[in-house]
Amino acid sequence: MDSPLKHHFDPAERPDCLDVSPERLNPMTAAQLERELEAALEAMTEGYGNPSSGYALGQAAAAALKEHRAAVAGRLGCAPEELVFTSCGTEGDNWAVRAAADYGRRKGRHIITTAIEHAAVLEPVKALAAQGYEVTYLKPDRSGHVSPDALRAALRPDTVLVSMMLVNNELGTLLPVAEAAQAIRDAGSPALLHCDAVQAFLKVPFTPAELGVDLLTLSGHKIRAPKGIGVQYIRRGLNLKPLLTGGGQEGGLRPGTEPTAQAAALAAACAAWEGDYPARIQELKEYALGSLSAVPGLEIVSRGDAPHICAVSLPGYPSEMLVRELSDRGVYVSSGSACHRGKPSHVFAALGLPKRTLMGVLRVSFSPESTRADVDALAGGLTEITKTRIAAR
Ligand code: PLP
Repeated sequence: MDSPLKHHFDPAERPDCLDVSPERLNPMTAAQLERELEAALEAMTEGYGNPSSGYALGQAAAAALKEHRAAVAGRLGCAPEELVFTSCGTEGDNWAVRAAADYGRRKGRHIITTAIEHAAVLEPVKALAAQGYEVTYLKPDRSGHVSPDALRAALRPDTVLVSMMLVNNELGTLLPVAEAAQAIRDAGSPALLHCDAVQAFLKVPFTPAELGVDLLTLSGHKIRAPKGIGVQYIRRGLNLKPLLTGGGQEGGLRPGTEPTAQAAALAAACAAWEGDYPARIQELKEYALGSLSAVPGLEIVSRGDAPHICAVSLPGYPSEMLVRELSDRGVYVSSGSACHRGKPSHVFAALGLPKRTLMGVLRVSFSPESTRADVDALAGGLTEITKTRIAAR
């Protein structure tokens, strides 16, 4: 079927999922993106009823929403009833942190998290600290890993929340979430365990039950769904405080007329995400790490445990300059989390890197459409920069 959006659809305008050269999308990927667009379009043009309405069109929209929730639950390995649609990962992280603190309010005021969480977790934690909560920030080692023993040692009888991401967004390292769940159980702690799995979903294998988490946060745009949709997993039986109050949608937990088009696109994105993507991306990352090692002076900061992220540094070269120069060559990398543009990243700072190394860090991420040619352009671009620019001492 010819999509009505055909002539407006330019996959290259979706650079968020392509940190390396967005210009080239293979036809298969373009077809997948088109499937998402068609799903969203159908929800907006044919299935445009309000899922809360009793008339047929509304009921059809409710039935479609149920299917979309089930599609996400199928990929996540949980029950559809355990999922709430949100607007983004930030919303889910904020909600989880605040609601978990509220849930444990009679048991204590101690929170454990890590120094390398996303700002979407760190900021609400900071706000709770300002209200009198004590916070323990687990520090990573030089490789970006957090020790489960440090978590065991930090747990206290008054700990009410442990928030630990599964894959770090700047280093690609895996954090010991399942071990954290075990530690909480062993200690008989009342703490709820929240996991920001925004970077992990469909990239590394896990289910919330395997991890043993109470709350888990996802974001659609990391798997090519449109921006504006996220998913919050809430373990069955956990009576969490609603994010909003209103008309009772999403089980009364996150009321508001449901984002049916975004949910349709998210379900389509889940269906289109192929099983061999992680292995393909991992292989390309290995190739990249080999090619980048040949760039004069380049240091590998993190190889990343997850298939799609690694971090390198050209010591003495300001990363903002590297990002700009590479961008001019059509290669898109970042100097850290996109949310911290222009400022040194707290994640790299937490590794205790030497100043010159910290100055030149780059986060490189790969998507299913990244190619060896992209990697060659990155390595070539960096080599050229080292020949034409002088590093700071
Ligand atoms: N958590 C992590 C690990 C992320 O990488 C991001 C976004 O990049 C977020 C949370 C925030 O998600 P969103 O952009 O959907 O608000």
